[in-house]
Amino acid sequence: MIDPFGRHVSYLRVSVTDRCDFRCVYCMAEDMTFLPKAEILSLEELDRVCSAFIRKGVRKLRLTGGEPLVRRNIMQLVRSLGRHIDAGALDELTLTTNGSQLARHAEALREAGVERINVSLDTLDPEKFKEITRWGRLEKVTEGLDAAKAAGLKVKINTVALKGVNDGEFDRLVEWCGEQGFDLTFIEVMPMGDIGETRVDQYLPLSMVRSQLQKNWTLTETNYQTGGPARYYDVAETGRRIGMITPLTHNFCESCNRVRLTCTGTLYMCLGQEDAADLRTPLRASESDGPLEAAIDEAIGRKPKGHDFIIDRRHKKPAVARHMSVTGG
Ligand code: SAM
Ligand code: SF4
Repeated sequence: MIDPFGRHVSYLRVSVTDRCDFRCVYCMAEDMTFLPKAEILSLEELDRVCSAFIRKGVRKLRLTGGEPLVRRNIMQLVRSLGRHIDAGALDELTLTTNGSQLARHAEALREAGVERINVSLDTLDPEKFKEITRWGRLEKVTEGLDAAKAAGLKVKINTVALKGVNDGEFDRLVEWCGEQGFDLTFIEVMPMGDIGETRVDQYLPLSMVRSQLQKNWTLTETNYQTGGPARYYDVAETGRRIGMITPLTHNFCESCNRVRLTCTGTLYMCLGQEDAADLRTPLRASESDGPLEAAIDEAIGRKPKGHDFIIDRRHKKPAVARHMSVTGG
């Protein structure tokens, strides 16, 4: 699949549910309204859409959400998609999770062909963890991380940089990830979805995080690439890597290789734009995959050049109305 700007689309991210057992302050409002179950694709339908994308050239697939591991019987989908890894049609099957359910799923994930996972963790302080996630418990996540390590999963920690919240902990996080053998990626807060707070209060540019880290760590920029928006640095003292995802301060759109599917079968060609394609109608219209594949081609044909995220005092409204939990980040 090649879009109008010559970019190869080889990476599909799938939000398998918009629901979550946490209510992170930058992601959701506390009283979220979730989608009615009838609108949500069944696991079989998700498998059909993912398989169509794989036939069309997708080589990497990431399950996300909401929290992917709270979707009922999700392992059925993971195991089923694992067949594409066995067949050599897919290079990587992975997921982004808050880690709360990882203790009971880690082993099965590894058995299904998942080799690495991203776990979101913004703080190592149990009280702060509660403040950020509202409903989460740090202990559950650290148990999950232990289980992931024991199962042989490679872990990357995702940390959203939050001004006045976790900005005193970045050194500790780098150190801890070094001890645990995890890579670490910092993420800037993106203006997605109304969360009942003003984002300028949370926004911390990663250029500031980097300068702060450079006081204590030797960071060397590398040309390591995952086809994503992160820039990577080697940390001499820990031997691990740190990534920085800076959608607001650095424009990464020219190398974008991905599209995002929601749990209702809506395809977003860009995280930062409203334009989307409905794949559920063609999926349900026919038992053959012809109409679905035609709709995918049509959608890729209008992948936009880039996003227009802005966070400043003049822009009080989110740049896109949907929450991150709809498209999964
Ligand atoms: N629930 C899973 C988790 O937390 O990892 C997967 C979905 S979550 C939406 C995916 C990632 O998006 C997480 O790392 C989370 O921290 C990040 N995220 C959520 N809202 C965000 C926002 N407004 N700006 C930047 N990152 C955000
Ligand atoms: Fe849930 Fe992940 Fe959003 Fe937190 S960031 S509320 S864990 S979907």
